[in-house]
Amino acid sequence: MTELLVIDGIRAGYGEVEILRKVDLCVNKGELVALLGSNGAGKTTLNSVMSGLVRAWSGRIMFDGQDMTNIHYRQVVQSGLIQVPEGRKVFPNLNVRENLELGAFTRARTRRASNLDKVFDTFPRLRERQTQLAGTMSGGEQQMLAIGRGMMAEPKLLILDEPSLGLSPLLVEEMFTLIAKLRREGLAILLVEQNVGQSLEIADRAYVMENGSIRFSGTPTELLASDSLRQAYLGV
Ligand code: ATP
Repeated sequence: MTELLVIDGIRAGYGEVEILRKVDLCVNKGELVALLGSNGAGKTTLNSVMSGLVRAWSGRIMFDGQDMTNIHYRQVVQSGLIQVPEGRKVFPNLNVRENLELGAFTRARTRRASNLDKVFDTFPRLRERQTQLAGTMSGGEQQMLAIGRGMMAEPKLLILDEPSLGLSPLLVEEMFTLIAKLRREGLAILLVEQNVGQSLEIADRAYVMENGSIRFSGTPTELLASDSLRQAYLGV
């Protein structure tokens, strides 16, 4: 398998406080990898280091053959490493189409129309609601819009930060079905989630982070075979 993202011994933190303690993680091309862990484990901090918003103290991040450690976030986006932020960070006073078009900055600008069509094919509901103000849509629709906006930037790897957060059980189900579909279409995805059960159903591999370190890495079957992990993360 071809490696797409390789995180090697990353240490980082805030001020003097070390949060990430030598984190290693890898995502191969076309793979769906789940990054699991409870509140405060360091998942968001790792995301911020990958996107160039928090500096790595040491270690290395390689993406698609390029050294991406501590480079400017604009270059990160340009390289095709695209983050979809947690929650509903769409622009509430812009309509659906305008929100999507804003995702097509940098290299994707010339292909905006064809990318927009692709996103509308994936999310027919967004096509129907092109002119609706994003702020008036439901939580699930805003989350879809956020993912659609990420796809406008032509991702090689899409990092989804808690896409199921705040959604009703039915919409959570729909969201995971959609993520599995994106994976089947060949997109590499790093899924950062607290919803362990459903993430494991669709992931090829998973990492469990605790206190800024990777405690486990392996297939969902391997994770579920561990009594202590099952108890800690699924409560069974
Ligand atoms: P959550 O799912 O709750 O976001 P997480 O696994 O993403 O959890 P982080 O948000 O990375 O965890 O937090 C890891 C640790 O870093 C926590 O102890 C948190 O208090 C601390 N932390 C996060 N952001 C900052 C910051 N800007 N300044 C100082 N400490 C921070």
